[in-house]
Amino acid sequence: MTMDTFIICYGKIIMVIDMAEKRIEELVEIINKLNYEYYTLDKPSVTDQEYDRYMQELISLEEKYPELKREDSPTVRVGGKVLEGFDKVIHEKPMLSLGNVFNEDELIKFDERIKKEIPNPKYVCELKIDGLSVSLKYENGILVRGATRGDGVTGEDITNNVKTIKTIPLKLKEKTDIEIRGEIYMSKKVFEKLNFERAKQGLELFQNPRNAAAGSIRQLDSSIASKRKLDAFLYHVPDALDYNINTHYESLEYIKKLGFVVNSNIKLVNNIKEVLDYINYWTVHREELPYEIDGIVIKLNDLRSQQKLGFTAKYPKWATAYKFPAKKVLTKLKDIVFTVGRTGQVTPNAVLEPVKVAGSTISRATLHNEENVISKDFKIGDIVSIRKAGDVIPEVVEPIIDRRNGTEKDFKMINTCPICNTKLEKNVNQADYFCPNEKCPARNIESLIHFVSRDAMNIDGLGERIIEDFYNMGFINTFVDIYKLNERKEELMELEGFGTKSINNLLESIEMSKSNSLERLLFALGIRQVGSKTAKLLAQKFITLDKIMEAKFEDLKNIKDIGEIIAQNIIEYFKEENNLKIINKLKEIGINTKYLGKIEIEYKNDKFYDKIFVLTGTLDNYTRDELTKLLEDMGAKVTSSVSKKTNVVIAGVEAGGKLDKAKKLGIEIWDENTLQNNLK
Ligand code: NAD
Repeated sequence: MTMDTFIICYGKIIMVIDMAEKRIEELVEIINKLNYEYYTLDKPSVTDQEYDRYMQELISLEEKYPELKREDSPTVRVGGKVLEGFDKVIHEKPMLSLGNVFNEDELIKFDERIKKEIPNPKYVCELKIDGLSVSLKYENGILVRGATRGDGVTGEDITNNVKTIKTIPLKLKEKTDIEIRGEIYMSKKVFEKLNFERAKQGLELFQNPRNAAAGSIRQLDSSIASKRKLDAFLYHVPDALDYNINTHYESLEYIKKLGFVVNSNIKLVNNIKEVLDYINYWTVHREELPYEIDGIVIKLNDLRSQQKLGFTAKYPKWATAYKFPAKKVLTKLKDIVFTVGRTGQVTPNAVLEPVKVAGSTISRATLHNEENVISKDFKIGDIVSIRKAGDVIPEVVEPIIDRRNGTEKDFKMINTCPICNTKLEKNVNQADYFCPNEKCPARNIESLIHFVSRDAMNIDGLGERIIEDFYNMGFINTFVDIYKLNERKEELMELEGFGTKSINNLLESIEMSKSNSLERLLFALGIRQVGSKTAKLLAQKFITLDKIMEAKFEDLKNIKDIGEIIAQNIIEYFKEENNLKIINKLKEIGINTKYLGKIEIEYKNDKFYDKIFVLTGTLDNYTRDELTKLLEDMGAKVTSSVSKKTNVVIAGVEAGGKLDKAKKLGIEIWDENTLQNNLK
């Protein structure tokens, strides 16, 4: 690297770091505000998924630029500030949060980390109850204090409110001194009833059972908490080893014995595979539970192994929370753009801030038609909810009206085609607008769809919708562009519904189509009235595309099943400048233009059929393998040495001893030209 380039690169690095620092500052500010709303006020303004997205972004920036990590970063702090008005409680052992994993890969990495220190770990799988954690202190078996987690070190004293929860015993079945931790929650039924009553009284509704539970337990007036019918599951004994308990699972049995409610779906499992089975089961069945869960907690069972692994500032290293992927998520509707389908139909499409839904990143989705946009009142700039209908097609469900800030712009339907500018038409009683221009380039889409279809180039993974999308995004305009998609690999992987695997499969399928036999390409070109059967007849008869292109009207019309009209269409097609350009480009790309199939008996050529060939030297148009296959398909036999039985020797450039021998024996010798002529 020269000094100059070093200075330029160095400047760029500084710029990138500056940007990262700015973004980190922004994220810290956003997350601190959201933490305050969520933990202190119990009134979140964004969804948990949106919050988690900010947090993940901050975590990855801090990992990339550790020097920029702030000491007070929310990634290392638990919860929020305690509310004024409550007595403060200092936790003897900090009440920490849990690390998160969001998919199978991350979970397996968690298991691998554990296995580095603990061989054959057994885990306890628990439902992650969507409530708020509580610490309960008993002296001589009597409840003396209940506290919230607060910031993990200092919590709020909520003893009076805790006492109103019927499932929390005031007196244990053993006269012991012990701290037990668990989750206070509100069942779905109680939540619905509470919100129903509040709606009747014109009061603000709680967003979800978690906020309702948190808001209820943190009431200074305990008569309010008592009316809210809260519940609790207990799941942790901080000093379990002091009670002669060896495993987490045993501690849960002990908690039960003391008189607490322990969740009945907890399961001790032998390995990570069984953890995944548990997760899969609850991913499907979670809705059947009478309370909400937002994930699965996985805890190492052996307590001494837990001790060995220890904690980070924010969470234990021996446990993690698997968070369920959101079925419906919120994101910003950045713009509405119009696309024209192959029938001329004009569709408004949402351009979204990219967001993950059920495993894939969504950045575009159809809004169907003007009526749908207007009746649902979508505005540009809205926060909208997205879900995957049938888990495949992304659907923009509705705008979140409460999240409007006045900067949103009204939607306006266009009245001319965005592609060719022709005035749009709409039939009475129909929702859709159409571009009436038959020659509108949007209709190219139809020919592209035909090109990749099964009987044509047979490219898997390029369905109608994808072709339309790629066309509208400007990725493909002609057949040639399909073969250039590999140059856009990175870009494609960013698109909704695509992952590395599907893009690799698609590109592989495109690559494979290059070696299709001629009849597929011929059919794919879309010559009028040349169906797949006619294409095969032509390919068998002429063997190469060049020969078909050179064929005269007479040659064509005399072929069985090809009459004058088709012959004329073929001639016309290959006269068109634009078609020739595309064919040349396809050839340059390396698309095969030879017939590679078997010659059917009615097209058997006596010059080849039943004859013995020997090949020598190099040919311009065929590799040795290609030519061998072609000859065999035509009923010939190819042998390696020249003998009296040999009928023809095909000699290319730098033919050697075989050619000499053939001459001596007086065997027929063809050069490449003769071969081509005989193939006609
Ligand atoms: P967390 O909710 O991700 O996980 C830790 C908590 O899980 C524990 O403290 C405990 O209360 C609970 N839990 C439930 N069942 C459990 C079980 N069986 N065993 C152990 N613990 C169990 O962590 P957190 O620090 O409480 O909160 C962070 C999460 O809260 C975020 O990921 C986000 O989802 C949400 N949040 C949302 C906003 C917002 O603005 N929407 C703001 C802050 C936090």
